[in-house]
Amino acid sequence: MVTITVHCPHCQSDALVRNGHAPNGKQLYRCRACGRQSRKDPTPHAYPPARRKEILHAYQERSSLRGLTRTFGVSRTTVSSWIKKK
Ligand SMILES: [Zn+2]
Repeated sequence: MVTITVHCPHCQSDALVRNGHAPNGKQLYRCRACGRQSRKDPTPHAYPPARRKEILHAYQERSSLRGLTRTFGVSRTTVSSWIKKK
């Protein structure tokens, strides 16, 4: 049995307690050492580049964030941030 130790990204402490789930289903932890909340696996790019490209391409064709949300299940906030980065 493998125990995965999760460390706080802020203070490197391993005194983390489970603290519910993020909207994307990821386990959230709260650090007992510094009191900050963190995710088990922080992914600034939750979507792989290929997927992102596909979604951005669809956006250019349809120019509808609402449509993208329906089609890809991606949040409008996420797509907006991609567009701004370009
Ligand atoms: Zn901490």
